[in-house]
Amino acid sequence: MLKADFHIHTEYSRCSNLKPKDIISQAKIKGLDVIGVVDHGNIKGGLLVKKIAGRKLTVIPGEEIKTNCGDLIIFNSDGKYSRDLIEICERAKQLNHFIYTPHPFDITRHSLDKNLKTIKKYINAVEIFNSRCYVNKFNEKAKMFAAKNKLVGLCGSDAHFKNEIGKSINYIYSTKFNLNKIKISGTNCKYSPIHVHLKSSIERFFKS
Ligand SMILES: [Zn+2]
Ligand SMILES: [Zn+2]
Repeated sequence: MLKADFHIHTEYSRCSNLKPKDIISQAKIKGLDVIGVVDHGNIKGGLLVKKIAGRKLTVIPGEEIKTNCGDLIIFNSDGKYSRDLIEICERAKQLNHFIYTPHPFDITRHSLDKNLKTIKKYINAVEIFNSRCYVNKFNEKAKMFAAKNKLVGLCGSDAHFKNEIGKSINYIYSTKFNLNKIKISGTNCKYSPIHVHLKSSIERFFKS
């Protein structure tokens, strides 16, 4: 059985201070086998974590793009996407990049909501639990959307700091990981304390 957290940021995001080597060591402490590493608008962190981890850990690199309609994660991105939601989805499909919708319906953040319907044919997975949502209703709505449309639901900690890594864990009953054939057998998801958002704001302030 594999344990996965699909949403971790690095210091290449202005709101995170996580160093690649610390992500790897903390993931190991938490017993994770697979991690999705994304940064806001760039793929540097994900690629670096993947390189350093070697065979120790399966790392899916990607980026979290602030599209014109809400945040969208592209795993295996080449970092050459525009900000236009439809353009991104069409390009990702052509290039076989993986489309993952983070914290949908979370009105306190830049999130996709009604426009999810428009792009549902492109979506590979919906984030049905994000540890940084502080209203449970948003995650519940995401879960319902995924179920209704028979889309894969994944969970992510959206970790920006060390203690957040592994807050959301997905269990995969397989010994080999394959993102395109992913099937989740169970989850163990917890919320992060609200002050993590404040920590991110402070980090962003000092980095700007
Ligand atoms: Zn962030
Ligand atoms: Zn994020």
